[in-house]
Amino acid sequence: MVIDRSRRSCLLCGATFTGRTFLCRACADQYRHQTVPLTVRKQFYEALDEAYPARSNTHGDWNVPVALLRELERLPPDSRILEIGAGGGFLAAALQERGFQRLVLTDLTATSLAALRARVPAALFAAADAARLPFRAGVFDAVISSDLIEHLPRPDVERHLHEVARVLAPGGSYFLKTPNRLVAEPFYRLRGLYDWHFWHPSMFSPGELRFALARHGLDMRLVAQPHLTGAQLAKLPGPRFLRTPAAHLPVGLLPAVARPHLEVVATRRTARGLP
Ligand SMILES: [Zn+2]
Repeated sequence: MVIDRSRRSCLLCGATFTGRTFLCRACADQYRHQTVPLTVRKQFYEALDEAYPARSNTHGDWNVPVALLRELERLPPDSRILEIGAGGGFLAAALQERGFQRLVLTDLTATSLAALRARVPAALFAAADAARLPFRAGVFDAVISSDLIEHLPRPDVERHLHEVARVLAPGGSYFLKTPNRLVAEPFYRLRGLYDWHFWHPSMFSPGELRFALARHGLDMRLVAQPHLTGAQLAKLPGPRFLRTPAAHLPVGLLPAVARPHLEVVATRRTARGLP
């Protein structure tokens, strides 16, 4: 995500303005109190990849879910893994390097699917909306999403979690990374990002996430990120030279409510309690 102030074009209407946001005020206000349609979201994220290739998750490895990767490494190598919103395929490529061969990757945008085919050619691909998964029940041992659910409209998050629980085999787990609302929301407000409701409409605190997952029969365990990600370092206000020491801050020692993002492993209940 781009945070430096510059002269730029609104990613929806093309109007030029100076600022740190992706949308002009008029486009941001248009969607402040309504759910953004899927076609508009797709248009926005494809325009984002085109306009900011150096900082988009499709083209750069900015947001590695380090703690999740450590958890994923413990899975049996023949695990059937689905990554939803696989972006540029950086995590999928890391999994493939570690010997996981049964990978299915989905994304919404044509730009991401093209990047996925180039970076992880041996995987299977599907263009799919995260709220409607085109797979049979119980066919995956692990489902992953990294920086996905915060982009979904709120009603879609519920459908998405229902779908994840459906496609997971009993005892399978959902490995998920998302911003911590308690830290991200005040940060966006302080930075004057008046369009954050458009690109992160569904953020969760640790407690809210635990509740949302539990509604779909998924029991959550938090895993701590050891350090700030490249994207988080780039967003820090203040002089750039401070980013090097910041990269070594042991943020994993912070309580979950104070961490910039949440990494969780949510395991599907095997007995009673399924929706
Ligand atoms: Zn606009």
